[in-house]
Amino acid sequence: MKPDLYLLADKLEKTGNLTDEEFAGILLCDDPDLFECLAAKARSKKEEHYEKKVFIRGLIEFTSYCRNNCYYCGIRRDNRKAARYRLSKDEILSCCDTGYSLGFRTFVLQGGEDPYYTDDIMAGIVGDIRDRYPDCAITLSIGEREKHSYQRLADAGADRYLLRHETADRDHYGSLHPEEMSFDHRMKCLWELRKAGYTVGCGMMIGSPGQNTEHLIKDLKFIKEFEPEMVGMGPFIPHKDTAFADEKAGSTQLTLKLISVIRLMLPKALIPATTALGTLDPAGREKGLMAGANVLMPNLSPVSVRKKYSLYDNKICTGEEAAECIRCLKERVSKTGYEIVTDRGDPA
Ligand code: SAH
Repeated sequence: MKPDLYLLADKLEKTGNLTDEEFAGILLCDDPDLFECLAAKARSKKEEHYEKKVFIRGLIEFTSYCRNNCYYCGIRRDNRKAARYRLSKDEILSCCDTGYSLGFRTFVLQGGEDPYYTDDIMAGIVGDIRDRYPDCAITLSIGEREKHSYQRLADAGADRYLLRHETADRDHYGSLHPEEMSFDHRMKCLWELRKAGYTVGCGMMIGSPGQNTEHLIKDLKFIKEFEPEMVGMGPFIPHKDTAFADEKAGSTQLTLKLISVIRLMLPKALIPATTALGTLDPAGREKGLMAGANVLMPNLSPVSVRKKYSLYDNKICTGEEAAECIRCLKERVSKTGYEIVTDRGDPA
């Protein structure tokens, strides 16, 4: 590896930032030595704050209805072949019960942007989870809503919110979404979530169609400026019933490199090794942890609906019960030298 790239890795480790050209140098180099050097630094940064802990979040995919039409996503409105379902409040609470007894202390409610879940309904669900589990964190991942709605759900007891910005480049955003969706609105939502008091997560797909190094540098700069507490990144994976069916999937290696880079930029961030990463590469989640990730998000949705929440093809873990998933993950994680813990896992 070129010595100047080692120097860049050192600079990133020490200062948490690089110039655009320096970021480009790192992103464009596919030398495995650079990759391992960044990963080693990322692991030690992570361990300074979180030791060997890996936090688990129970993901409840509660609706596959969506009013949006994101070109990459399998549950987009215009996909007539998508199987649609909604979970009732009781079904959601029963997922939480199962999760709680398995040791989960964070529940993530994720779904399409489904108008059925009005503020009243959503606040009712959040409020009931809050009453039943005062010791748990409640994370929402339900897309773009208005400021008063974010506030109302925070008041009902939601603590955290995941809203990937998807890409920090306006034109690239325009090529991934129909005209009716707005880059400015998505970004505005992130700032409003912050103001409403949430612990906020942003993030992007790696290798989405049309994405180039310049776009990724913009993502890194946005992430540096926004300083999210959580950063969700997974490879883009095509879905057969979308316009991007024939596009190439993102790469494991680039996803891992970005996990390491972001760990060095935001040492205390909560970064998941995503299901998409585990789908693209059978050892993807373990590799994610070794690259600096410290969160896993196993599925708590009822097995009967798992396959219907199909954002991309061949998604893993759609067949097993939650108990089976967590057993499997514990084994996988212990082989990496890390250890799943069951506290809420708030940011350090
Ligand atoms: N409706 C919510 C939740 C979206 S699903 C929202 O708008 O935030 C969660 C994430 O899955 C998305 O933010 C997107 O980054 C990712 N995703 C969607 N389709 C994907 C695909 N084909 N490959 C990989 N990730 C995908």
